[in-house]
Amino acid sequence: MLLPIKIGPENFERWFSNVGVELTDHGKVILTVPNPIHHLWIESNYAAPLSEVVEVAAGGPRQIEFHVQSSTAAANGKTPAVVLPLVDMSVRGGRQIGRAPAASEVISATVDPVRIPRTLAEAGLNPKYCFDNFVVGANSQYSAAVAKAVAEKPGRIYNPLFFYGGTGLGKTHLMQAIGREILLSKKKAVVRYVTSEQFTNEFVEAIRGQSLPLFRRKYRKVDVLLIDDVHFFVGKDSTQEEFFHTFNELFNNSKQIVLASDCAPAEMKSLEHRLVSRFEWGLTTQIQNPDFETRAAILQRKLGDLEDAPVMEPWILEFIAQRVRQNVRKLEGALSRVAAHVSLEGSAPANESALEALLHDVVDMEPTKTVSVDAIQRVVATHYDLRVGDLTGPRRPSNIALARQVAMYLTRHMTKLPLTQIGDEFGGRDHGTVIHACKVISRRMMAADDFRKTVESLIAKVVEG
Ligand code: ADP
Ligand code: MG
Repeated sequence: MLLPIKIGPENFERWFSNVGVELTDHGKVILTVPNPIHHLWIESNYAAPLSEVVEVAAGGPRQIEFHVQSSTAAANGKTPAVVLPLVDMSVRGGRQIGRAPAASEVISATVDPVRIPRTLAEAGLNPKYCFDNFVVGANSQYSAAVAKAVAEKPGRIYNPLFFYGGTGLGKTHLMQAIGREILLSKKKAVVRYVTSEQFTNEFVEAIRGQSLPLFRRKYRKVDVLLIDDVHFFVGKDSTQEEFFHTFNELFNNSKQIVLASDCAPAEMKSLEHRLVSRFEWGLTTQIQNPDFETRAAILQRKLGDLEDAPVMEPWILEFIAQRVRQNVRKLEGALSRVAAHVSLEGSAPANESALEALLHDVVDMEPTKTVSVDAIQRVVATHYDLRVGDLTGPRRPSNIALARQVAMYLTRHMTKLPLTQIGDEFGGRDHGTVIHACKVISRRMMAADDFRKTVESLIAKVVEG
């Protein structure tokens, strides 16, 4: 691909034919111009394409400096380190500004370093997200419909398209499905998916490495830009400014913009007003929490999609669908936890309390009955052959310390008590001790299967009462 520097023959003759180009030892590029008017004109009309040409020709971003002829290296007797080719695209075959380019150098200088994404991965898309495997429920019916409409006619109906809703409800899934559909159905479309965090990091990096032109080309020369989690832009003023210009450029050229966030545009406090208003120009659609039937349908679908799908009795899916209400990612997490259990143990948990015990650390289960600290302390003390007073007392022999940590861990996960109150329930210990206990126990559960089973059996006992 040719570099985007277009200079008509007349302009080339007038402004560039007598410009010298030097690469100094310090890596700067010096353009030697006959007078200050040349400097002004070139800088104001060709700053961006020039720095791109220079960046490609020099193999990296370079600072460009203008010297008026009297102050040139030639005048003070120095010879330039390297002379770089610049190319006038208006002339067939390329015409050089400056001196001494070899044909091969000119060719390599005309290769565009921003790769056009042709595969899903290059476009930043995860192959697992498509319309086919998105289960549509009342909560997402409208969002899924507009997503499909945009995928069919990008840039033509809803622009920008803005999804919002709680975590794990399918915003990323839907926006990636749009990108996938367009990439696969329109051969020439340039699609990019990026999170606003990545966008921010790349922007910061581009400033640091002086490669803004490349960064801009990457995000402004696309047909479809999908920006996820835009709430991350809040408080990042220069990134917002940059994105504002990206947005305008794309929008003005009828390129499709799709955005997702965990809240509605107007709720994004301290996001620049002009961005908020642009986000609202097109169509804003909320994905809500799925109802029970949709949750059950999603579980069915995910189970079917698992490799060697394990056999699971309907009550298990029903139990998960009832207890995990607000996050599809957590539904998936719970399902794969049970699937892993089936493949390791040869069967699914036998009853509800065993299932609850298995899932307690995967999902925020909302226990059906309230669990008291007393009950936890009694169950744990009995298991370790101790008295409740040992758990709440000052003694620290290792068997007591471990039992106490287990009891603290269970209290943390099975009740809604704040850390300080948990500390109080265990003999006035501070909240740092409780946090430490929870960490020790979860690490140990991850490291040792036996220990994990023990904790799960204690949970089951507490639940059973
Ligand atoms: P968000 O971006 O809203 O936080 P994601 O799109 O990342 O959520 O979804 C989380 C997980 O849940 C993903 O694995 C996604 O495939 C799955 N998911 C969410 N909603 C649905 C749905 N309606 N049908 C199928 N899978 C879904
Ligand atoms: Mg997401």
